[in-house]
Amino acid sequence: MTNLVRDVGGTVDANPDSAAIAYDGAELSYEEFWTRAGQFAQALEDRGIGEGDRVGIYLPNLPQFVTAFYGTLRAGGIIVPMNPQYKAREIRHMLGDSGAKAVVALADLVPNVLEVQDDTDVEQIVSVGADVDSATAFDEFLAEETKETVDRADDDVAVQPYTSGTTGTPKGVLLTHHNLAFTTRANASVPPGGFQASDRLIGTLPLFHIYGMSVVMNGAMYSGGTYYPVPEWDAPTVMDQLENDDITIMFAVPAMFNDMINQPDAESYEFEALRFANSGGSSLPVEVLNRFESLWGVQLNEGYGLTETSPVTHANTNDARRKGSIGRPLEGVEAKIVDEDFDEVPRVEEGPIDEEEAAIHEITGELVIHGPNVMKEYYGLPEANEEAFTDEDGKRWFHTGDIGYWDEDNFFYVVDREKHMIVTGGYNVYPREVEELLFEHEDVADAAVVGVPDERRGETVKAFVVTTPDAEATPEDIKQYCLTNLAEYKHPRKVEFVQELPRTTTGKVQKFELRGDDADDVGE
Ligand code: AMP
Repeated sequence: MTNLVRDVGGTVDANPDSAAIAYDGAELSYEEFWTRAGQFAQALEDRGIGEGDRVGIYLPNLPQFVTAFYGTLRAGGIIVPMNPQYKAREIRHMLGDSGAKAVVALADLVPNVLEVQDDTDVEQIVSVGADVDSATAFDEFLAEETKETVDRADDDVAVQPYTSGTTGTPKGVLLTHHNLAFTTRANASVPPGGFQASDRLIGTLPLFHIYGMSVVMNGAMYSGGTYYPVPEWDAPTVMDQLENDDITIMFAVPAMFNDMINQPDAESYEFEALRFANSGGSSLPVEVLNRFESLWGVQLNEGYGLTETSPVTHANTNDARRKGSIGRPLEGVEAKIVDEDFDEVPRVEEGPIDEEEAAIHEITGELVIHGPNVMKEYYGLPEANEEAFTDEDGKRWFHTGDIGYWDEDNFFYVVDREKHMIVTGGYNVYPREVEELLFEHEDVADAAVVGVPDERRGETVKAFVVTTPDAEATPEDIKQYCLTNLAEYKHPRKVEFVQELPRTTTGKVQKFELRGDDADDVGE
């Protein structure tokens, strides 16, 4: 068994003087970072907050996030990360449900915490960025003493992020110290030679989300590399930073890579130090991958995961990858594709397959996962836990809710989320296939496809398209283009041009919004 805090403590001992965090022209060494985390832990203890207690972190990517995160772990506490874009209504559920006793919030967000405080157990509010009434400023909060790390059991819970998963209100996902340590180690071995102490990792992925937290922040702290928090995504600023700070590793979501390749001066950038790039969080259109690689000469590998799996389960690597695939399971993680009776669906010989030619419905099924990265359970939700797992021969398999297939070389392919499938006139359409085609059109900068209600067909396919600045195509042209390249039932009968697509900060298109539904799947 492994334990993240022990792992990072070892890194601190080995690299006390290296830069752990670089932000706004200043650096924090490993020793300084660890001391501050210990002072944060002591401050929690001084206020009676310790083992098993929840601490909310309601911050954008800032050095204080990293300190509060490791400080809470050192105190034996459990972190409840919250999206800084959330309003009072959204944090009420997370704080109430988790029973958090303290919250570290950006000063501007403290009013939201105050608004819900009476409905929660929150006693302490720590503010970052400015002094505000009813909160203690972060630096004042830190104790003078540094607390020794509380040694938690490896299967004790370390973080409790909220995700809506496949249904309903956000659920608290209980991830243990071992879950986090396993995934951090396994993922850090994906680039050639693994993450190194000399690596500089760009922190564009939000830290409240498991992808930025586990893969980038914990990955950096585990390997002794330097973490560069980026509080807000802005493609030109990040591209300048990739050049100027000699960033070596970039993990991001497809929307970020797509934004980069669409910058008018994209060709003038050279990312000389960049040695590894990985995309996850939603499907990476092959067109975006190809353009990225031809512009910057760095291989862009796709990976896959979910909050419930800490998150990474699959990744392509520099020497084992198939475009359009999510890669192979990480070492130590098992995955398979099953039908409704939980029987394995046969593998295809070699993917990706042409969905048009293959009888897609015979080769696809649900992707299920077993491994040390799989969460303990959803917090206090026996029914959701019942639905999420299938026990078979002593193994507990987690249902991802994603539809995919696998090939004989153990590469996996995600076709789409089960719930995104469109049923039109009795035919099933996976939006992803139509989206891939749209990305191939030279006038399309971004695209998303959803099913909208239709009296005759039940649902009909609708495409939302963001065009490039000098585009000439009309919505009718796009429709015709799809009709020429896809089976008739799959083509979008409706095409709407929009300025931009509604996305979560982790790059997922908020399809409920495009469909005009209630926000029942926020954070999907
Ligand atoms: P989250 O819990 O927010 O990390 O979201 C997990 C979901 O993101 C998965 O169930 C997938 O639907 C989606 N996802 C993540 N990575 C990929 C990928 N490479 N391709 C397709 N979908 C992905």
